[in-house]
Amino acid sequence: MKLICIGRNYTKHIEELQNEKPTDPVVFIKPDTAILLKNQPFFIPDFSDDVHHEVEILVKINKVGKHIDKKFAHKYYDEIGLGIDFTARDLQSQLKEKGLPWEKAKSFDGAAVVGKWLPKTKFENVDDIQFKLLKNDEVVQDGNTNLMLWKIDELIEYVSKYFTLKIGDIIFTGTPAGVGKVVANDKLKGYIENDELFSITVK
Ligand code: ZN
Repeated sequence: MKLICIGRNYTKHIEELQNEKPTDPVVFIKPDTAILLKNQPFFIPDFSDDVHHEVEILVKINKVGKHIDKKFAHKYYDEIGLGIDFTARDLQSQLKEKGLPWEKAKSFDGAAVVGKWLPKTKFENVDDIQFKLLKNDEVVQDGNTNLMLWKIDELIEYVSKYFTLKIGDIIFTGTPAGVGKVVANDKLKGYIENDELFSITVK
């Protein structure tokens, strides 16, 4: 399985990193080895001094599909989750400057937190889901899927033009504003509305 990640999908996050607003979604892939194993701490890799948390809504694909029209996209997932796209920001900035791919900064082992899943039926509208990240019990990021530049069904249509979606693939839908550095002993907890979907310690 693969993790298909979207960058620059929330205006305020684009502004905080002083990126240009894209005309198409920014897409990158993480391999399955990037998934942080259940109940394990996140270890800051030795090649970075500036690893950032990016909390993101996740969508789990339940059916094989290619060239999915956004009208039918809702049939390709029935679970919504929450995760973190850990990013070695210092390394990513160097790579961006040189026009090189981001994989080393985004796709290293442990760089993808995948929390518990909730049935889509729990939500009246997937384009209005409130979520947040707490660092040491303080809210550092909070967002709502209604602020996405490309909504979930549009993302499925877009990414499936390029990649066949397979059962179990996960889409990371982009982070809202408030990304920041993590340091050893930080505790990160992610919530969709009132449900805690992950709790991890940084080492
Ligand atoms: Zn991200």
